[in-house]
Amino acid sequence: MTNYSTDILFAQKADEQDNLKLYRNAFYFPTMHHRPAIYFCGNSLGLQPKKAKEIIETELEVWRNDAIEGFFTGKHPWLYYQEYVKPTLAKIMGCLPHEVTVMNTLTVNLHLLLMSFYRPTAKKFKILMEAGAFPSDQYAIETVMKHFGLNPATAIIEVAPETGEKILHRNAIIECIEKNAQELALVLIGGIQYYTGQLFDIAAITQAAHKAGAVASFDLAHVAGNVPVQLHEWKVDFAVWCSYKYLNGGPGAIGGVYIHEQYATDTRFPRLGGWWGNDEQERFKMEKGFKPKACASGWNISTTQVMNTAALLASLEIFEAAGMDTIRKKSIALTGYLEYLLQQVNHIPFEIITPAAPEERGAQLSLFFKENGKAIHNKMMEKGIIVDYREPGVIRIAPAPLYCSFQDVYAFYKILRNKF
Ligand SMILES: *Cc1c(COP(=O)(O)O)cnc(C)c1O
Repeated sequence: MTNYSTDILFAQKADEQDNLKLYRNAFYFPTMHHRPAIYFCGNSLGLQPKKAKEIIETELEVWRNDAIEGFFTGKHPWLYYQEYVKPTLAKIMGCLPHEVTVMNTLTVNLHLLLMSFYRPTAKKFKILMEAGAFPSDQYAIETVMKHFGLNPATAIIEVAPETGEKILHRNAIIECIEKNAQELALVLIGGIQYYTGQLFDIAAITQAAHKAGAVASFDLAHVAGNVPVQLHEWKVDFAVWCSYKYLNGGPGAIGGVYIHEQYATDTRFPRLGGWWGNDEQERFKMEKGFKPKACASGWNISTTQVMNTAALLASLEIFEAAGMDTIRKKSIALTGYLEYLLQQVNHIPFEIITPAAPEERGAQLSLFFKENGKAIHNKMMEKGIIVDYREPGVIRIAPAPLYCSFQDVYAFYKILRNKF
């Protein structure tokens, strides 16, 4: 679908032919000016699946009626609650069900996984990340370094774009890994850069990290539910993500963790433990000696977060039915359409800083407005279109394919075209 046109009829026809159109009605849209808003912030907080209430209500009922017995009764005994999301999450993240688990939230999980995978030695102790990484990731790495008595100023290697550029070339990352191989212990890259929307070549970075004898790890906050990945096949060592962005799990949703099976099944692999990572059969015996499960859930620490995971379960039902490949296919067409329309707007000075190649981006386009950025953002909100604004002058717009339409994208374009 590349014969885009500025005629509204194109958007109407594309929406009619959209095989995901039914899912739009599976979500609640916020109301603005007494009508449903157009929502382009799925990269920050996904919309609420209508089914979430019912699934949470079911667990409230079990709690009400069965109390402690809820761990063993009902359709979804709480004892195994983290198990129910695994089959679909494994499909979304391209891994085996025993390589994935849910627990805590993203930054906490990053800390926990670093405790397993980051083993600095006198010679090999450096961590490579992309410059301008999400602040929470920067704080995590900085404080973990200090925990090991290292100096973040010298032990963190940041790969930055060339002067005057916003996009980081794949080869720059690979060359930096090769150059620092001697001292490099771990590579942590945000799979999609939250600010520019750039999708990195996870397979190539993983390969380069391994060649350098370093751990390959990724923060997939902006990737999960947005772009299909093949974490197992690419041999990524570990990855963490949050579930409240494209995965629509709700504010503070339970975080996702992937651990390659070579470590996930190795119960001797070091980790910080707790009773929920212990074998269920042994857990309540209260015996000495932590015996982790031989899967990613061997990293679970505390009691399963039932309500939180229930909300995610509601969303994953939609992903299971829609299929990640279909979602991605529409996403490429929808974001391509947005890009095409933006290219027709010539009277406002702005730049799309997200890469143009579909394989180098997900749903999001980041637009840098040389002037009037805030005014344009205000106008969008006034017109019932929710987009994200970041100083200086960047509007991030993410048409999430499960609930955004071609006509939504057209409405954004129409305002830009007419009002500025
Ligand atoms: C959203 C996001 C986070 C959020 O971390 P939490 O611990 O869930 O608050 C972290 N890293 C990246 C790259 C993100 O985009």
